[in-house]
Amino acid sequence: MIWKCSVCGYMHRGEEAPDQCPKCGAPKEKYAALSQEDAKKVSDSDRTNDIHMEIIELSMKIAQLAEEGIDIDLDPSCVDAFKKAKDEVWVIKQRNKAELAGHMSRGKW
Ligand SMILES: [Zn+2]
Repeated sequence: MIWKCSVCGYMHRGEEAPDQCPKCGAPKEKYAALSQEDAKKVSDSDRTNDIHMEIIELSMKIAQLAEEGIDIDLDPSCVDAFKKAKDEVWVIKQRNKAELAGHMSRGKW
């Protein structure tokens, strides 16, 4: 069973709603059980959202590495490759962020 806090949106997994919301402190009465359909959306999207977040994290790491390579400035073709990598991972990061934002707005989290 998945319970959702009507105050802050926190999702709780368990037989019963928590006595107090771990995020906003709202009492148990503020929790409502998700419908089976909504609970399925949340379960199905859990791993997918984690993957999006990991890709976002990796793209940030690649951007940092590219930045370091640009700073070293070994030769123009290296700098060019690093600049391209930085631009490309920006696209990857933003695309995955937009997808995540879409999931949040459709209750898939
Ligand atoms: Zn709450």
